[in-house]
Amino acid sequence: MQREETVSEAEPGKPRPTRAPELNPFEAVNYFFDRAADHIGLKDEMRAIFRSSYRELTVQVPVRMDDGHLEVFTGYRVQHNAARGPYKGGVRYHPDADLDEVRALASLMTWKTAVVDIPFGGAKGGVQCDPKVMSVREKERLTRRFTQTISYILGINRDIPAPDVNTDAQTMAWMMDAYSSRYGYTPAIVTGKPVELGGSFGRAAATGRGVVYCLEDAARDLDINLDGATVAVQGFGNVGSWFARLVGDLGCRVVAVSDVRGAVYNPNGLEIPAVFDWSNESGSVVDAPGTETITNDELLELDVDVLVPAALDRVINEGNADRIKARIVVEAANHPVTPAADEVLHRAGKIVVPDILANAGGVTVSYFEWVQNIQQFRWEEEQVNAELRKTMSRAWSNVHGRATVDAIPLRLAAFAIALEKVEYADRLRGYV
Ligand code: NAD
Repeated sequence: MQREETVSEAEPGKPRPTRAPELNPFEAVNYFFDRAADHIGLKDEMRAIFRSSYRELTVQVPVRMDDGHLEVFTGYRVQHNAARGPYKGGVRYHPDADLDEVRALASLMTWKTAVVDIPFGGAKGGVQCDPKVMSVREKERLTRRFTQTISYILGINRDIPAPDVNTDAQTMAWMMDAYSSRYGYTPAIVTGKPVELGGSFGRAAATGRGVVYCLEDAARDLDINLDGATVAVQGFGNVGSWFARLVGDLGCRVVAVSDVRGAVYNPNGLEIPAVFDWSNESGSVVDAPGTETITNDELLELDVDVLVPAALDRVINEGNADRIKARIVVEAANHPVTPAADEVLHRAGKIVVPDILANAGGVTVSYFEWVQNIQQFRWEEEQVNAELRKTMSRAWSNVHGRATVDAIPLRLAAFAIALEKVEYADRLRGYV
């Protein structure tokens, strides 16, 4: 493995702050990383590797818009570490997508794939654009051009993208087609595809389902009674809506959900299927029948048993952490809790189930999809869900066990396990 096109610098000698400050996303991931590196006594030379990316590609993505004018977007693909297998990670379309964010998310993927012990490394992609104001044809042209531009660093044994915020199965179909038109039919080049094009049964629900499995295991081992427990979910996209639809199986009552337009609340419990239909028809959960409208900030601070941020990063931060009342916060989104907020929650005795464990169901079923594409053999949905269950429960029990033995929070335990695995793989391969 050669290091190339790396622009981020490692800072192995930099003194670590004693109190968690508010940091940009990449600094925040490295803050959590450093805590774990200290805990396991990781050498500075290895920290220098893990605190930077293997490769960071920034590309120009010119797109002819429907009205005839040319718009030039900026896209990114960051490959963080591939010691344990090909780079793996989603692609997001968002006005705020920038190199720092994509870099942070790529690093999180390295730790996430290690925590659930699937044979992938970590990567992430993003295009800085506002898909909400783009037509379907414009998004298709953007996706094809972006894929062609980054295609030389992709490959079924090299780097395999997937959906993330504002990208979906249709986006993956375009990516697969753009890649296949250059390199031949290659369904395994992306995961999260439509089932009709080699996608896996159960992939769409996988992240939300994995969060439910994780909550169930956590509640059992941490003595939290979920029967009648109240749940608030921020974000009603792929992850949040699937979680909200499935969590009722644990006996919980979802009392609030939200999207970018606002939040809806009913203290007696929301009719989630009805809210889902309303959201599909109207474009938002807001004003769903039988609900009271509240703000996203109010949702986070509701007096509920379980809080599930499933939208964007850093929504629980120094500004609101001391007002979070939920006993357990399950991080369905990536990096929803800042380091400063994490400390406040920890001091207040709250349990935080970290993103690299809680939302790993998506990449786990992506792995199953990749396996099925390579085998050219389709699994039934029952098999997918049963394997997901096994993988999530094994990961939970490893993280919970380590947290108990070392008397450390779950996040630190998850990072410690992941770091040890990736470091060992790097050494076995002779990278260092
Ligand atoms: P999505 O685009 O399907 O849904 C995002 C949801 O968040 C939407 O309901 C949107 O309206 C809402 N939202 C956006 N901005 C908001 C704001 N400012 N306040 C409140 N709500 C807001 O995205 P997704 O795939 O569900 O991903 C959600 C999170 O989960 C992201 O952090 C993503 O990285 C993470 N994640 C996704 C997957 C996956 O398989 N899709 C896997 C792991 C982690």
